[in-house]
Amino acid sequence: MSFQSLGLSEALLKAVSKKGYTTPSPIQQKAIPPVLEGKDVLASAQTGTGKTAGFTLPLLHLLSENPKEKYRPIRALILTPTRELAAQVYANVKEYSEFLNLRSAVIFGGVNQKPQASAIRQGIDILVATPGRLLDLQNQGLLSLKRVEIFVLDEADRMLDMGFLRDIEKVIAMMPEKRQNLMFSATFSKDIKKLAHGILNYPIQVEATPENTTVEAISQKVYRVAKAKKTDLIIKLISEGNWKQVLVFTRTKHGANRLCEKMVKSGITAAAIHGNKSQGARTKALAGFKTAKIRVLVATDIAARGLDIPLLPHVINFELPNISEDYVHRIGRTGRAGASGEALSLVSADETTFLKDIEKLIEMKLPVEVVEGFEPDPNASTVPIKQGQGRQNRSRGNSNNSRNSNRNSNRNNKSRRPKRNSDRRN
Ligand code: AMP
Repeated sequence: MSFQSLGLSEALLKAVSKKGYTTPSPIQQKAIPPVLEGKDVLASAQTGTGKTAGFTLPLLHLLSENPKEKYRPIRALILTPTRELAAQVYANVKEYSEFLNLRSAVIFGGVNQKPQASAIRQGIDILVATPGRLLDLQNQGLLSLKRVEIFVLDEADRMLDMGFLRDIEKVIAMMPEKRQNLMFSATFSKDIKKLAHGILNYPIQVEATPENTTVEAISQKVYRVAKAKKTDLIIKLISEGNWKQVLVFTRTKHGANRLCEKMVKSGITAAAIHGNKSQGARTKALAGFKTAKIRVLVATDIAARGLDIPLLPHVINFELPNISEDYVHRIGRTGRAGASGEALSLVSADETTFLKDIEKLIEMKLPVEVVEGFEPDPNASTVPIKQGQGRQNRSRGNSNNSRNSNRNSNRNNKSRRPKRNSDRRN
């Protein structure tokens, strides 16, 4: 199948070919036609499938078919959970709309709102936003969503994980009832289905290649190790393997900082990327990593979500995630599309339950290795780490009233409270 056969305008085909794309990805082949027909779409796709072009290209096509003269109200809203994702989606919107007479802007927290408000005031057709900043500007009377024709909810599952449900509801109440809705999510929990039911009208359901195909293509290994020896082991593996471009996941922001410092001390260039880092620091870390100035990027799940980094040779779980699906998202950063990649997990006794849950989800047993001198502690407890012991900890099914654990509550947690300015904290 070609992009031409999807019925996209010449201006869009030109932009697509400038990007170097020759064939639409499966999610693009499936999502673009119904969107062009004006239908609501519910798509199952994660980062790396080409989902952004899957909704952006037909959205731009529809808007440019029916241009609005002079005064430009916001006609399309793309809502994303994180600042990084918002910035990436916006970059794509800019690229794909290069040959169209459409204007766009991006807004997210953590940076000065003035330039954002000024861009909106000048008139834009497409707004890419995170929920907190969007509601902030709306509350100040700096934007109106009353003319939105197309609404895109990107990474809906992550939105719920981050406690954005109430914010999404508020945003929906600000838009006209008659509009086209597109919802993208990597996973489909009961909560996501409920949300989809509330937003979408007779949606066409489309999905990208099932996730387990990806999982099977990745070479995975578990290193059983004593908790206290994890740092030394990871440094040994990276140094001795002379690995470059390693993405390391930790469960907490604090853990990411600590590990990063130790790596730098032992001569490995590393940077941490998480919610307590300024936007500037995050952008710099990501740029350094992409250009191979930084060998190791240490990230938390939320910060890493949606990062537009090409296939990586090595992904290491310094700690296993306590939500099994996050393991699949993490290792999906390597070995896609047939490229070789390796996903390693350092597992201590207290993570045994997490490992079992992951193996159940991916329906395979992971090969285990023990490195001499880094053996697991035979006396260590196998009781899982409790919620609250990690600041970004998301435990299974427990409701908890602290701000952090509520924000990071898992997909089954119903006790979500409204958040203000939540995107500042991602
Ligand atoms: P996404 O899933 O939207 O984050 O896209 C993942 C990566 O695939 C991005 O770097 C895109 O630029 C790239 N991409 C999207 N569509 C295509 C395509 N049809 N052919 C090749 N690369 C693509």
